[in-house]
Amino acid sequence: MSSPTSLHLELPALPGELQGLRQEVRRFVAAERASGLLPYPDKIGLGFAPDVSRRIAAQGWIGMTWPKRYGGHERSALERYVVTEELLAAGVPVGAHWISDRQSGPVLLKFGTEAQKQEWLPKIVRAEVAFCIGMSEPDSGSDLASLRTSGTREEGGWRVNGTKLWTTNAHRVHCMIALIRTAKADEKNRQAGLTQVLIPLDSPGVTVRPIKSMVGVEDFNEVNFDHVFVPDSHVVGEPGNGWNQVSAELAYERSGPERWLSTFRLLAELVQALGPKPSDAARVEVGRLLGQLMAVRQISLSIASMLERGKTPTLEASIAKDLGTRLEQEMVRAVRNLVQQEDLWLRGEHAHLRSLLASAQRYAPAFTIRGGTGEILRGVIARGLGLR
Ligand SMILES: Cc1cc2nc3c(=O)[nH]c(=O)nc-3n(C[C@H](O)[C@H](O)[C@H](O)COP(=O)(O)OP(=O)(O)OC[C@H]3O[C@@H](n4cnc5c(N)ncnc54)[C@H](O)[C@@H]3O)c2cc1C
Repeated sequence: MSSPTSLHLELPALPGELQGLRQEVRRFVAAERASGLLPYPDKIGLGFAPDVSRRIAAQGWIGMTWPKRYGGHERSALERYVVTEELLAAGVPVGAHWISDRQSGPVLLKFGTEAQKQEWLPKIVRAEVAFCIGMSEPDSGSDLASLRTSGTREEGGWRVNGTKLWTTNAHRVHCMIALIRTAKADEKNRQAGLTQVLIPLDSPGVTVRPIKSMVGVEDFNEVNFDHVFVPDSHVVGEPGNGWNQVSAELAYERSGPERWLSTFRLLAELVQALGPKPSDAARVEVGRLLGQLMAVRQISLSIASMLERGKTPTLEASIAKDLGTRLEQEMVRAVRNLVQQEDLWLRGEHAHLRSLLASAQRYAPAFTIRGGTGEILRGVIARGLGLR
């Protein structure tokens, strides 16, 4: 049995001064909507709108916590949290900068070379480049250490061959941070020999094939590498240290507000459709969902403040993702039940609710798969608590 990691959830109160920032974001969203530049969301999902991302960048809301010397704004993680929360709750399409801001940028900041930071971070901050995450492969999702994309040593770099799968936005972004095997697998330490590399997606030998999901959209891809040359200057961190780096990265991926706010618009639309005098049953159900949302939000906020203090809260982030994504799925079921129970279909005027619910029902299975499945997360939690 591994030694237990202590479970730390410290619940920070959001300082009052953050209210000003929250209002600023709300004013931005209202102005964008009023100008017709930001359509009202009629689907679940992060959307992908580079022009919207550039206007968000112009507000100083990308790379908020990063050092000014890399174009960042040196603001706190809680300030970033408030901005993220407001944009997601309003259904603003943030997909064109989301992964780079949440994950790829912080990876480069933590493990990248000075040259990599100077090259990529200012461009991310201005929403000029975007990244995707190259971890999963055919037959290697949950068991990531079994991945087979390989880097073979050559003069000045690595020759990469293999296939990544389910890579969100690879067909729309500029660069992937890929996890590849650069040393032979060792059965006693399967996580050894993995390395993270930057691969610009216009490199010779890269083929990106979009995959249509059951939602009917092409958001993720299969990405094939056929003898792609990756120079040493594109290795992120130490060769062979990829597993530790990816573990740190996953804490960012698993704990943010996108893990409990994916279906928030659906709840907001429902409340609107129920009107000022909802039935007692509807009142109780909406109250129950909101209560659970607030509990998950506190956990997620606590993790944001731990990340700010340089910790790697792997166990806590797994709890946040497991609870948050299951709640998102439950919300879809609860809203559907209420819509039927309260005869909202018959009233005909709730077009947004109808289209959001239709897309949420098809999207919801993905919530507990992307970023690590529920079963895997519960395994991480059990291991962290010393139970296995
Ligand atoms: C919408 C979406 C976007 C995604 N975007 C990206 C991306 O941008 N980049 C990227 O790298 N990946 C991405 N993924 C892939 C995602 O991370 C994987 O799908 C996920 O990790 C599961 O891997 P898998 O699909 O290979 O399933 P498998 O690992 O084959 O799992 C199948 C089932 O078996 C269960 N299982 C597997 N192993 C165990 C075990 N040891 N104990 C108990 N149960 C187990 C799993 O929980 C699951 O229910 C995305 C996925 C989705 C749905």
